[in-house]
Amino acid sequence: MSILATEKQTLSNFIGGQWVKSTTTKYEEVPNPATGEIIAEVPISTSEDLEKAVAAAKKAFAKWKKVPSPQRSRILYKYHQLLTENWDELAKLITIENGKNYNEAYGEVLRGIECVEFATGTPSLLMGQQLPDIATDIESGMYRYPLGVVGGITPFNFPMMVPCWMFPLAIASGNTFILKPSERTPLLANRLAELLQEAGLPEGVFNIVHGAHDIVNGILSHPDIPAVSFVGSQPVAEYVYKTGTSHGKRVQALAGAKNHSIVMPDADMDLTVTNIINAAFGSAGERCMACAVVVAVGDIADELVDRLVEEANQMTIGNGLEKGIFLGPVIRDSHKDKTIGYIESGVEEGAKLLRDGRKDESSSEGGYFVGPTIFDHVTKEMKIWKEEIFAPVLSVVRVETLDEAIILANQSEFANGACLYTDSAKAIRQFREEIDAGMLGVNLGVPAPMAFFPFSGYKKSFYGDLHANGKDGIEFYTRKKMLTARH
Ligand code: NAD
Repeated sequence: MSILATEKQTLSNFIGGQWVKSTTTKYEEVPNPATGEIIAEVPISTSEDLEKAVAAAKKAFAKWKKVPSPQRSRILYKYHQLLTENWDELAKLITIENGKNYNEAYGEVLRGIECVEFATGTPSLLMGQQLPDIATDIESGMYRYPLGVVGGITPFNFPMMVPCWMFPLAIASGNTFILKPSERTPLLANRLAELLQEAGLPEGVFNIVHGAHDIVNGILSHPDIPAVSFVGSQPVAEYVYKTGTSHGKRVQALAGAKNHSIVMPDADMDLTVTNIINAAFGSAGERCMACAVVVAVGDIADELVDRLVEEANQMTIGNGLEKGIFLGPVIRDSHKDKTIGYIESGVEEGAKLLRDGRKDESSSEGGYFVGPTIFDHVTKEMKIWKEEIFAPVLSVVRVETLDEAIILANQSEFANGACLYTDSAKAIRQFREEIDAGMLGVNLGVPAPMAFFPFSGYKKSFYGDLHANGKDGIEFYTRKKMLTARH
């Protein structure tokens, strides 16, 4: 299949190493959000489809868990090579189905590749621990084993990176995997499966069942699926965690965010403005690590908002495949309407609308565009401060001290990321010690950890114990056995 074909594709599920047509009669159209053109239709698969996938994954697990760890890794080395060779094509596909600009999509492919790099290290990462003399003539050892069939449920905003947070490490650890990609960006997942097959992954180790909440519910209650990784919005993450754990499953559910960036009076203005513009409006604000709120401390506020508006006024808006475009569309028309609703509520609640993205024009017709929008004098009573908008809308709150800024940020119900712009070591230390967020940035805009570290949100940004990626990922996808032996 040429993934960049302009003709509309009807997607199939990937089950037991085969492309299998869904048994459903229900399909959902997938538009290119930059043009509105329908590029695919995705099956809203049935429980029958899921059953087939679970059976295939369960059968494959019996053999795959016995494949020596270095051999499993070698397949991932090959996969790494194939992802690298197909980098440009993967990036274009991300732009076509998601809307983010090509450079951002190219960067997303890198974030996915890094997950595969980390997973190739499983022969070391899976090692256990031994003590030869826990008692006289008695030794003790810990060994790690895979869990079985793991389910992965992913959001629309990172169609490559987020699935790669899950399946490379899960399968390298000896599990088999069923991915339920976002029905809004389902194409890239199929390409990932094709490349896995080309890399030599045995049939049934990786499977895809496309669809919506029925497949999610099927995964959450299936007796043959012991663990579920989820990434998506807060209400769904909470639901997935509660439902999955009530069925006795191990669940990690990464959720929404409302990230604050605190700007101190001594911040480097050029660096701060460039980073906040990227963090707030890059990927059309559809990032769980996006900067949603700027907290301007002291007398820097006037100059900062002037510079942000000036930069936003220069922003190029259009189809992310065109050279020089910075801001692409939001994912759907309905999301554009929701965003406009938030802008209206900000105005009604008394925030000062410094820059109105509703009025911007784009170079691409038919897409779902909202220009960069900036509110000043936002307060914590306002809906635009409290809720995740997930769009190119930035709120500025003014405070007098770092203490006040931290107190404000900590009142958010989310705790994914937070940033501080300053030259002061004292301020950095206070920020690190007192801020309530799991991923911190100093003088940079998007402090998303790379694959080697855990993605560490908390409060309403994460449900579970073990995060995605890093050593947490290894812990999540394995169980331990302790052997105590007398000699
Ligand atoms: P979403 O919650 O709408 O969808 C995520 C997945 O859940 C999809 O596969 C979808 O089919 C499924 N789903 C949706 N509604 C469901 C329901 N009622 N019952 C069962 N399943 C359902 O999320 P989205 O809009 O695709 O993604 C954006 C959200 O994801 C944002 O809130 C963003 O902050 C969050 N996100 C978080 C992280 C993180 O690391 N914390 C990373 C990326 C995205």
